[in-house]
Amino acid sequence: MSKTIVVIDAGHGFKPTPSGGVVFDPGAVGYLGQAQHREADIAAQYANSIAYMLRTLYPAIETHLLIATREQPLSLQQRRRYEPSAAAFVSVHLNAAESRNAHGYETWYSREHSVGLAHALHGALQRALAGRLDRGIKQKGLTVCQREKPSALLELGFITNASDLEYLLLRETRARVAREVAKAVAEFVGLG
Ligand SMILES: [Zn+2]
Repeated sequence: MSKTIVVIDAGHGFKPTPSGGVVFDPGAVGYLGQAQHREADIAAQYANSIAYMLRTLYPAIETHLLIATREQPLSLQQRRRYEPSAAAFVSVHLNAAESRNAHGYETWYSREHSVGLAHALHGALQRALAGRLDRGIKQKGLTVCQREKPSALLELGFITNASDLEYLLLRETRARVAREVAKAVAEFVGLG
């Protein structure tokens, strides 16, 4: 039997330009006082922790961590086409809004075959982010989620909301999210 593959995708970061160059897409940006925080950096930290937790606790799963670097920039299409046989694809993001009051976490999926994964992941966020605003599970056409196998996108909170941002920057928050998401993914692919 072939190994079960899971892909953890860190949103944003370096991406190719049409002219053959590379540009850094920071994603959304938030501020705590004068300090600027970029979605790409926080998403990479979370994706890294989730992948580490999967590799540590569930070695039977082949975990692929997708973080776009200058050397390996990634377009949305490249992310979408990456390892098409992967049993689960999880993209990690932070939300943003004009209003600095908007806050909370949500889980997105695109195709019907991803509902189960979206529910499993959202349950993990409910446990890891207990006490934060639950904005629910939502569906729309997202490029990275147009995959043949289940895929979902996490919006862990709003980078534009000071309370969400401070909370997500806590090491303990990241550890809880990593543990719960890894557990949910492992159970979803039947190796938990
Ligand atoms: Zn994003």
